[in-house]
Amino acid sequence: MTDTAVRSWQDRAAAVVPEVGAFIDGEHVEPRSQATFSDISPRDGRVIAQVPNSDSADIDAAVGAARRAFDDGRWRDMSPRTRKRRLLAFADAIDAHTDELALLESLDVGKPIGDALRVDVPGCANTIRWYAEAIDKVYDEVAPTGPNALALVRREPVGVVGAVIPWNYPLILAAWKIGPALAAGNTVVLKPAEQSPLSALRLGSLAVEAGLPPGVFNVVPGDGPSAGEPLGRHPQVDAIAFTGSTEVGRRFLAYSAESNLKEVALELGGKSPQVVFADCPDVDATAQAIAWGIFYNAGQTCHAGSRLVVEAAIEEQLLAGIAEVAHTLQPADPLDTRTRMGAIVSAAQHERVRRYLELGQQEAQLRLGGAAVEPVKGGCYVEPTVFTGVDNTMRIARDEIFGPVLTVHRFEGDPDRAITLGNDTDYGLAAAVWTSDINRAHRVARELRAGTVWVNCFDVSDLATPFGGYKASGFGGRDRSLHAFDHVTQLKTTWIGLG
Ligand code: NDP
Repeated sequence: MTDTAVRSWQDRAAAVVPEVGAFIDGEHVEPRSQATFSDISPRDGRVIAQVPNSDSADIDAAVGAARRAFDDGRWRDMSPRTRKRRLLAFADAIDAHTDELALLESLDVGKPIGDALRVDVPGCANTIRWYAEAIDKVYDEVAPTGPNALALVRREPVGVVGAVIPWNYPLILAAWKIGPALAAGNTVVLKPAEQSPLSALRLGSLAVEAGLPPGVFNVVPGDGPSAGEPLGRHPQVDAIAFTGSTEVGRRFLAYSAESNLKEVALELGGKSPQVVFADCPDVDATAQAIAWGIFYNAGQTCHAGSRLVVEAAIEEQLLAGIAEVAHTLQPADPLDTRTRMGAIVSAAQHERVRRYLELGQQEAQLRLGGAAVEPVKGGCYVEPTVFTGVDNTMRIARDEIFGPVLTVHRFEGDPDRAITLGNDTDYGLAAAVWTSDINRAHRVARELRAGTVWVNCFDVSDLATPFGGYKASGFGGRDRSLHAFDHVTQLKTTWIGLG
């Protein structure tokens, strides 16, 4: 990549004029709320745009549009084949706007432009496509009721789905929510995080350009208290699909309980253990996977492998391998396509991660990194960091740091000790075990309490596999796979007497 090519992304970034108005009923609209917030790029601290901080009146308008679009059947009553074609066209439109969406994503959250181009935009389009393809292939059921009756068990769309997402993978998480919801025939109001509204707002207009009827997919920017809460409490919203912190997840349960008992599906935080036995198949490959598993996206991944539980005999060799990979992942300008680690999403999150870096140096031993850096002036960056000598009572071991910070927990002797250490967390989103012993691999994988367990690999995924957590990592539904239809549909049994 030449400097000219780097400059070309910077030139394009300087020229970006994003759509910022809420997208309601097929168009960007004037906000009812007079308030705005500054959308700041963590790349360099620059204000990208002033974005309307939507409030309950804006949410009301969006939910009203979604309600009408659901009730009059303009989407759910379309033939499955037509609905599929419209969603496939939406996926194609996302692909066709890869550069534009990737740039918005990179600017908004400080993600490396190369990752946005290779991972986030294609991941978003492929998710929409995957659910589109399912529309005319998933059948309902006929119950085995005997000769005198026919009992049909049908999945019906739940109605208006409110999707509330965080900032770490805005395009991918938006697609995980809207893909199954729209494919099932629901209408949607999406509230992106205030740190990352731009790509979601562009998805709204692309959907309509691709043929989704107005009102079917609406996007409302705004912060949690002013826009998220009214959506969570709205009596005309039938289900909430949420990804974010455990604390806000609890609030959505309360909003539901205090309003209309809407369905709530929660995908929350994680503190995933990487359990490595001394007989792991290939130490270098394991180190590589562990380093990427915590440092990718600057550690801002809900299932990041943030706790390394390692057998003492192999600890030094493994840490040397992780350090080697970490040296190749130093933070750099997100708009340079060679960059492998970008920025922390915001000044607030940067400050939060820095506090954990300080705390870690009081609680444990700093092995690698540990400092905030500034490869782009005014930006929010942190070095890949490793703390050793960590035990599970320390806050760096218990809290979800959401930054590029690995804690190392050593064990010796009884292999069950590794399982106990791995499970000693409030979270249960994901885990991994590394061993050449097939019996041990199965046994440990079975005992680890997490929604996904990887054996001798990490972060392998496919849209065909469900994703979600045990314990404080969430419940109420899974993202990805056909199981994602469960929380955006409801079952109706129709009995037909034949006697
Ligand atoms: P939050 O859970 O606060 O935000 C997630 C979404 O919920 C955002 O759209 C947010 O809006 C919205 N929200 C926030 N407060 C409310 C509220 N009171 N009512 C309704 N909606 C609300 O996560 P943060 O972005 O603040 O990150 C904090 C921590 O959460 C991170 O450090 C990390 O530990 C964890 N996290 C986990 C993620 C995961 O993938 N599981 C993703 C992101 C964060 P807005 O931000 O606009 O206020």
